[in-house]
Amino acid sequence: MDAAWLRKRLELEKLMGVDALMTGPSAPAAPGIEEELAAAQEQVAVCRACRLHEGRTHTVFARGNPRAELMFVGEAPGHEEDVQGYPFVGPAGKLLDRMIFAMGLRREEVYVANILKCRPPNNREPRPDEIEACYPFLKRQIELVSPRIICTLGRPASNTLLRTNAAMGALRGRWHTFDGIRLMPTYHPAYLLRSPGQKRVAWQDLKLVIVALNEG
Ligand code: SF4
Repeated sequence: MDAAWLRKRLELEKLMGVDALMTGPSAPAAPGIEEELAAAQEQVAVCRACRLHEGRTHTVFARGNPRAELMFVGEAPGHEEDVQGYPFVGPAGKLLDRMIFAMGLRREEVYVANILKCRPPNNREPRPDEIEACYPFLKRQIELVSPRIICTLGRPASNTLLRTNAAMGALRGRWHTFDGIRLMPTYHPAYLLRSPGQKRVAWQDLKLVIVALNEG
């Protein structure tokens, strides 16, 4: 079989569509993590699954790296977050950024979300029916980001992911798992602003996270 004959044969097959028959129609590319997260964010933006949609200025989906190894999960948007549409942008967010920096990371390297995407009135604690209604969005975010480590901030986030009612004192400082992902509960930065004496305790939790991240 000479090269000229083979070239002619391939041209003829291409002309007859044999290529396509052999390989089948090219499948559409599967959406990536960013596209899937954007789709979930669009669903959140129009969600009315609980009463909190009534008072929101913006829904608050997430911030940070969708391919992060470390994901922080907090409670709910506060006033600043509701105004700006991003989580942890108020005073508690500034403390979280300092905590992330102290861990040797940049805020752009981690992914940050809340259990609720709309602000509860007067920053009250999330109610069980609101958490239940909003939980599928957080679950989807965790599935897509697929972090190596989750750090829950405060009791509502820790109790939601660990399906417990235990107090933070009983949960923090030791490893748990959520869907096979290592999970470290620690205090919420808003609580640390009110109780600065607990910052040292929270730092102990974060040091465990640093060690786990460096374990590779
Ligand atoms: Fe929907 Fe969550 Fe907002 Fe409730 S808090 S309206 S479930 S996005």
